[in-house]
Amino acid sequence: MPKPIVAIVGRPNVGKSTLFNRLTGKRIAIVEDTPGITRDRLYAEGEWNGRNYTLIDTGGISMDEDDPMQAQVRIQAEIAMEEADVILMLCDASQGITPNDIELADELRGVVDVPLFVVVNKSDNPNRDQDAMEFYSLGLGEIYPVSAISSRGVGDLLDEVVASFPPETEEDNEDETVRIALVGRPNVGKSSMVNAILGEERTIVSPVAGTTRDAIDTYFEFEGKRILLIDTAGIRRSGKIQGTVEYYSVLRAQRAIERCDVAVTVIDSIEGLRDGDKRVLGMAHEAGKASVICVNKWDEGRKGVLEENAGKNPMRILTQTLRDELPFCSYAPVAFCSALKGTGIGAFLETAIHAAENHSMRIPTGELNRLIRDAVDSRPYTTKGRNLKVKYATMAAVQPPTIVLFVNDPELMHFSYQRYLENQLRKTYGLEGTPLKIICRKAA
Ligand code: GDP
Ligand code: GDP
Repeated sequence: MPKPIVAIVGRPNVGKSTLFNRLTGKRIAIVEDTPGITRDRLYAEGEWNGRNYTLIDTGGISMDEDDPMQAQVRIQAEIAMEEADVILMLCDASQGITPNDIELADELRGVVDVPLFVVVNKSDNPNRDQDAMEFYSLGLGEIYPVSAISSRGVGDLLDEVVASFPPETEEDNEDETVRIALVGRPNVGKSSMVNAILGEERTIVSPVAGTTRDAIDTYFEFEGKRILLIDTAGIRRSGKIQGTVEYYSVLRAQRAIERCDVAVTVIDSIEGLRDGDKRVLGMAHEAGKASVICVNKWDEGRKGVLEENAGKNPMRILTQTLRDELPFCSYAPVAFCSALKGTGIGAFLETAIHAAENHSMRIPTGELNRLIRDAVDSRPYTTKGRNLKVKYATMAAVQPPTIVLFVNDPELMHFSYQRYLENQLRKTYGLEGTPLKIICRKAA
């Protein structure tokens, strides 16, 4: 089951960002920055009492400066209603009820079946708690006075929020199933890909097996493998208000990526690589998922590349462009297809399955240690007059493969040397399609 989504809504300045940071700050801080990735802080992961959730700050959506407040309130309410499992409506105890609060409350009153918490922020002391009582008159039920700045009342609020989540169910984690998420910007051809993939020749085990609000799940069989296709395209949003279509697609992609083994980022070869594509690929990378770049509309896109590079191999040209533009996911294989003509689909599926296999590859400890020892012996690394010594290597995890190197001093490890070791591992084991994590620890 995907993590529950908690949406924070509220007029400007009530403290949405402050609460968002309070609930997720630690998590955000440990995320490494990957160069070349545009990061919009639309959502983040939170955890309380052992339950994980995704938090959306609806105030973080970039909006037209000229948008009147009413439109902003409507956007927030729309997103909260469509996406959230739990809604936190944030108000400001120091200001009391404002017309915008009333407007937002009216919009939210239409939400059925989703727990709604009226959170009265800036309740920094017991006096403010008294002021907060006023918010009962919004008629939305229980109110929760908190101070996002000092955390006062936040724990009590979270206890209730987490208790309102749907019960946890086992995710479909069968080893044999390869979970493939099709993600990408709107109009790159995801729906067309789904149709091409699920065309007559495949055995659909259970069409639309699990329909969530995020994606349509379909199980099918391909070359004897059971595959779960997580399709984010089938669900269309009205996006009445400009800008929200892109927002939904990013959110949806993030949720699908979370559940998959292989994230397939579809890009439109007629349009070429866009920032939105980079962002989706960046999300797959940061989530540690296997990754495949699927260049779609190749029937048309090929012509464009040829026109500009006469006499050259168009696939090679475009692949090189992608490698140059996307240095952080050089491991991701590039598959070319045309969903419209139905070409390249089988090869693309094989590539995705292969990436998933590499993603869960286990390298035996003996082999791993021999390989690392040979690599270090043939190119010793010295810095500040000291030799880096790798005493022992172990595979700490799979999905993605994660290798821990026990060294004499982790400070001696340089990024470029780590890259060298990674390349040696890739030379031997391929590992195409999967990121590889290398962690250095001080040997005992
Ligand atoms: P947003 O526009 O809703 O995201 O609001 P911000 O998080 O940017 O906060 C607006 C202002 O309220 C900032 O100056 C915050 O420091 C302040 N603020 C946020 N939470 C609290 C709180 O719990 N108590 C007090 N006194 N001020 C707060
Ligand atoms: P989605 O929003 O990513 O699901 O994209 P759609 O599947 O709805 O496709 C968007 C548009 O691109 C439609 O007009 C499709 O007909 C077109 N399209 C999709 N795949 C191809 C392709 O392989 N070649 C060409 N020429 N057009 C395609």
